[in-house]
Amino acid sequence: MLKINIVSEIDIPDPVLEHIEDTLSEIAPTEVEILEDIDLTDVVRSFKDNVRGQINAEKLLNALRNVFNIREFNNKIVIVIDDDGYVPGLNFVFGIAELCGNIAIVFTERLKVTYIGEIDITTLFYERLTKEILHELGHTLCLEHCPNRKCVMSFSNSILDVDYKEARYCRTCIEKARSVISWKKF
Ligand SMILES: [Zn+2]
Ligand SMILES: [Zn+2]
Repeated sequence: MLKINIVSEIDIPDPVLEHIEDTLSEIAPTEVEILEDIDLTDVVRSFKDNVRGQINAEKLLNALRNVFNIREFNNKIVIVIDDDGYVPGLNFVFGIAELCGNIAIVFTERLKVTYIGEIDITTLFYERLTKEILHELGHTLCLEHCPNRKCVMSFSNSILDVDYKEARYCRTCIEKARSVISWKKF
């Protein structure tokens, strides 16, 4: 069983959590739960670069590794931060995760819908959030970037790439993650 715990600075509606659970269940049986009582505000903001106005994602990831200290491969934690993140050398990142690790971070700032029209902006925001959570969790399941641009594991340079891809893993990625999991034998 994959156990996904989410610590989020924003409310995440149940259908989003269910979609994440269902999508990961194609790889292995999955349980997704929100951890309500953890407040990471101080830790997260201590990695904010006040000149850039963004959070150093790499440093935060390292710090969170010590905060949670998870050992089991099947236990993953997703931190959803209502802010903007970067890694040195890149203007911004949508998220960051440890390859084959336990911790995934998603930043919401670049997922926010800044144009209006015929679209339902709330739905679009949560679709993007779902994709980014699945993407970063994929990295924790040892998946690297996928050349299939429709696959949620494809690399997104911009929000247009995020909107183009689907909120699911392609067949190849599902098979890869399954073989990793069977190799880890949990
Ligand atoms: Zn990635
Ligand atoms: Zn793929």
